[in-house]
Amino acid sequence: MGWFIRGPCDGAKRRRGVVYSGSPDEGEAFVWGVSMPEIPELEVLKENLERLIGGKRIADLRIIKPYIQKTLLPDDLVGQKVTGIERRGKYIEIALERHRIVVHLMLSGRFKIQPGEKPPLKSSAAFVEFDDGSALHLVEEAKLKRMSMWILPGAKGANDIKELGPEPLSDEFNVDRLAELLRGSRERLKNFLLNQRNVAGIGNAYADEICWQAGLSPFKQANKLSADEVARLHGAIRKTLIEAFKETRRLTGNKLEIDESRPFMAVHRRKGEPCPRCGTRVQWVSTTTRDTFYCPRCQTEGRILKDGRTSRFLKGN
Ligand SMILES: [Zn+2]
Repeated sequence: MGWFIRGPCDGAKRRRGVVYSGSPDEGEAFVWGVSMPEIPELEVLKENLERLIGGKRIADLRIIKPYIQKTLLPDDLVGQKVTGIERRGKYIEIALERHRIVVHLMLSGRFKIQPGEKPPLKSSAAFVEFDDGSALHLVEEAKLKRMSMWILPGAKGANDIKELGPEPLSDEFNVDRLAELLRGSRERLKNFLLNQRNVAGIGNAYADEICWQAGLSPFKQANKLSADEVARLHGAIRKTLIEAFKETRRLTGNKLEIDESRPFMAVHRRKGEPCPRCGTRVQWVSTTTRDTFYCPRCQTEGRILKDGRTSRFLKGN
């Protein structure tokens, strides 16, 4: 990823979302400019979109950057009313009278509202104009080009795009269901949480937070959790997501711009800061595709992974 810059650790600045990165040496914070929205952020966006565009009729839909468009545009889109906003996994679904606009923001896709008639934003990948002159823009600030939009007929939605596991906050997702899913997995715990076929809507940030909340190593084998650990994990998933949703809603208000720094997080992107539970410094490890943050005292029985020694660390788990 070439679009982040290196800088010194500075608590005040990073809370405002300044982009820092570098090698995993002490004294440097690892903060990316953007974070993929997960359940807490998407639930807030869902509520705010409902308030901002619910009941409006579509006057136009324009595609600026063709990569975003995953399906053909139906002929009868114009004139349809927004009947509701839903979320499934990390997808936002804008329900219309006869179709559904399904959006995956990926890492850097965002929603923006323009209140009146104005030229498209520079970063707009597509936008929907409504009959009152306002417009909902799908923007991508970073040059990643991964945000996606589908327009599906009838009640079809994210479930028709990708195989998704249960929603972690649904009644269906009880301790027994989680235990069953874990038993059938050959993944390590963090990868289990990230696999959308196991459970939908959790990403890199909340997977770290959930493992910390449960006091479990992110590298523990998912199918080796004891009954007590499964119950703790289930409670941690609910607690982490519900509390983050409340905090995100409080911090965001009625806006569609969400604070990327997530100041309420305990370990994710908190390398070197004290663990809120025990005061031990939060550690960071980079595996093949992602960064993982953890408290060695609360989660790994004191074991610390030095960069480049992943295999040795994993053997110990
Ligand atoms: Zn700790």
